[in-house]
Amino acid sequence: MGQHLSATVGGSLPRPTNRRIITIANQKGGVGKTTSTVNLAAALAANGLGVLVVDLDPQGNASTALGIDHRSGVPSTYELLIGEVTLEQAIQRSPHNENLYCVPATIDLAGAEIELVSMVAREGRLKSALDDAALDKRTIDYVLIDCPPSLGLLTVNALVAAREVLLPIQCEYYALEGVGQLLRNIELVQAHLNRALHVSTILLTMYDGRTKLAGQVAEEVRNHFGSMVLRTMIPRSVKVSEAPGFGMTVLDYAPSSRGAMSYMDAGRELGERGVTMTTGQEQ
Ligand code: ADP
Ligand code: MG
Repeated sequence: MGQHLSATVGGSLPRPTNRRIITIANQKGGVGKTTSTVNLAAALAANGLGVLVVDLDPQGNASTALGIDHRSGVPSTYELLIGEVTLEQAIQRSPHNENLYCVPATIDLAGAEIELVSMVAREGRLKSALDDAALDKRTIDYVLIDCPPSLGLLTVNALVAAREVLLPIQCEYYALEGVGQLLRNIELVQAHLNRALHVSTILLTMYDGRTKLAGQVAEEVRNHFGSMVLRTMIPRSVKVSEAPGFGMTVLDYAPSSRGAMSYMDAGRELGERGVTMTTGQEQ
């Protein structure tokens, strides 16, 4: 407990040498993509890093959880993808943390999957829109992209824009269902559109320590994916699911809850690994 309490206060993590762009993907719905995106973003921001969340799900749940206005008509990822606004125009600052920003998703994004089909360079539109100058101006160290539960053009745009994929896996029956298909899609994108893309991180979510099954799933995932899997697992926690209803991350809503502490720990692990990885590659 003591070790955890110090974590929630928020210290500082080193800034990565190069900005990290991470796509949070899993085409299964309800596995904790959005929850992990916003809470990891808040954890990194609490550690002094600049973070941008790009909401690519028409449901706009990440925008809601960050307390960001995402009514229809607000400059959003939709206008950004079709080239109607710049990143500078679509970016909003979170009311709860001055290091945390969001490009919201509005319901208008629901039509984008179809509209994008006929557009030039349709897979690379998000990548082109993530303008370095606008990101540098706010010293954004991390861009986290929250994906919809599908493998359509929105997810492909996220995979082309990122260097890393973070895959949340729910500690439940059929946890690995669909993961093979996602990995094949990542390989296709890597082969044809984005050589740098790789799965860097796996996060076990909604872990219920009381059930034998959760432990078995976690063990299976660790055996299969090894060191990609973060040591920290996110427990099932009511506070985590209540927080979005207040337009907050669990770190703001219930900072001393187990859910908040776990996301804080996972965020630190993600941040610390990134630095090691970057240095490793450059040596
Ligand atoms: P996805 O984005 O993959 O569809 P969500 O992050 O929206 O998944 O999570 C699905 C549902 O599960 C949401 O209602 C969310 O509040 C809830 N949830 C996510 N993580 C937890 C957790 N650790 N404990 C309890 N509820 C959770
Ligand atoms: Mg979601």
